[in-house]
Amino acid sequence: MGFHQINFLPIWLAALGLALIQPLSAQQVLKAAELPPNPQVEYVIHVSIDGLTASMLEAKLAGDTAEQYAAFQRLIDEGASTFNARTDYDTTVTLPNHVGMLTARPLWQPEGVSDQHHHGFPHNALPEGTNMTLHNAGNTSVGYIYSVFDVVHDHGLTTALYASKERFNIFEKSYNDTYGRGDSVGEDNGRNKIDRYAYANDGLHAQSLHALVMEELPQTHPNYTFVHYADPDLTGHVHAFGSDEYFEAVEGVNDYLADLMTLVETDPVFRNNTVMIVTSDHGGTDFKGHGDQTMEINYRIPLFVWGQGVAANADLYDLNPTNRQDPGVERPTFSVDVVQPLRNGETGTLALELLGLPSIPWSFMTNAMNVASFQAEASALKELFLPVIWH
Ligand SMILES: [Zn+2]
Ligand SMILES: [Zn+2]
Repeated sequence: MGFHQINFLPIWLAALGLALIQPLSAQQVLKAAELPPNPQVEYVIHVSIDGLTASMLEAKLAGDTAEQYAAFQRLIDEGASTFNARTDYDTTVTLPNHVGMLTARPLWQPEGVSDQHHHGFPHNALPEGTNMTLHNAGNTSVGYIYSVFDVVHDHGLTTALYASKERFNIFEKSYNDTYGRGDSVGEDNGRNKIDRYAYANDGLHAQSLHALVMEELPQTHPNYTFVHYADPDLTGHVHAFGSDEYFEAVEGVNDYLADLMTLVETDPVFRNNTVMIVTSDHGGTDFKGHGDQTMEINYRIPLFVWGQGVAANADLYDLNPTNRQDPGVERPTFSVDVVQPLRNGETGTLALELLGLPSIPWSFMTNAMNVASFQAEASALKELFLPVIWH
């Protein structure tokens, strides 16, 4: 009998005995199934800030006397957040991480998992005139790789994707009238899963894309909107991540976020009925790149959730005591034996749960994180109970 068995077994017996003799109150036991229900809203705005490096933003916020990062500060003060979320385990480049966010799948097959649950799309650039889709160039053992757009659209709701890098047309193509799968959920809403796709970019910035978002959303009110702002990444590649120019780009994105938050608060349709999810695809280094997925500066990313019903001024790991684990500085794998950190790849699943919809068929990160407030003292007993692992 090994060390762990000798020391651990009596704790379990004691816990079991306690459970049999005296039912534990909800205050004492907080299993994943007993976390409070997540808020339900009709609108989710899912924002990815390309190359938003957690440590850099954190340092700037700490000394932000000029309030150049006021929107980010509001996301923290009024929402649930962490600066210690993770990218995909195997990649810290743009497209594979966005495929993860939109399909809830890891890039490669995790240990202990069948070959049906990873997206398998490693490409970060698309050949000219390509016929590539996620389905024919990703994990071909799957056949069709479902996305957030499929689930929202098949349930009769509306979707939009606003991108500031041209390569995002892989999503438009994979989920269009030709390559999108027929809708077998309720009424037939068609194969084209993305009702509005727009790409725009002005050199190193996404101002015109943002202007389009601000012009269209008050008219169209998509139930699910994904917005991609490339400014910090594009600037970081030219001037280095962490340079003055990089921070100017992050300040620009702060202003985009401020506009979106004002829209959510003032628009009669969005008001009190919208959650914003804000994260990143990867960080970046002072030598102008982010391709090394083993570097903390690349794999550690921020994650903010803000809006109707979301816990205020809360740490996302505190809100998920039994089903996620703060990874410290580590880079946990997707193995089924590992309690997962919060990841950008699970933000699409959260969006669906907030909209009252099921998770993405055959995806991997199907267990939505909790973003609602609950009695904090309950987490004290979390160590006694086995954490819930995806699948
Ligand atoms: Zn990127
Ligand atoms: Zn980049």
